Amino acid sequence: MLDPNCLFCKIIERKIPATIVYEDELCLGFKDINPVAPVHVLFIPKRHIVSLAEAKEEKDLIGYILTTMARYAEIEGLEKDGYRIVNNTGKYGGQTVFHIHFHLLSGRFLLWPPG
Ligand code: AMP
Ligand code: ZN
Repeated sequence: MLDPNCLFCKIIERKIPATIVYEDELCLGFKDINPVAPVHVLFIPKRHIVSLAEAKEEKDLIGYILTTMARYAEIEGLEKDGYRIVNNTGKYGGQTVFHIHFHLLSGRFLLWPPG
């Protein structure tokens, strides 16, 4: 369920601090410690899944997290100017924490394509 050596599992268990902005029975949203936009929130499932590549049986959970993020964005008033949701998977994707997470970025114009 949770991995005692995983940074984000420790945030779920309140073993390390985070600024939690959303929580329900399935997922947690907290502020990124190194924000790259005025709004930078990470959403994670409350179970240890390494990456999107490993999330083979979890399509309902992944869909739930993404739609929950959209509802959160709506409540926070981000819909008007828009936002971006990003998932980094593996080495080429730039993943650095191996507990699946989705970045919610907003508050400034975001360039495309990414670097
Ligand atoms: P990624 O590169 O997609 O794996 O993203 C990992 C993200 O986790 C980065 O944006 C980090 O700034 C963020 N991060 C790392 N440690 C923490 C922490 N203790 N609390 C909040 N965010 C963190
Ligand atoms: Zn974990």
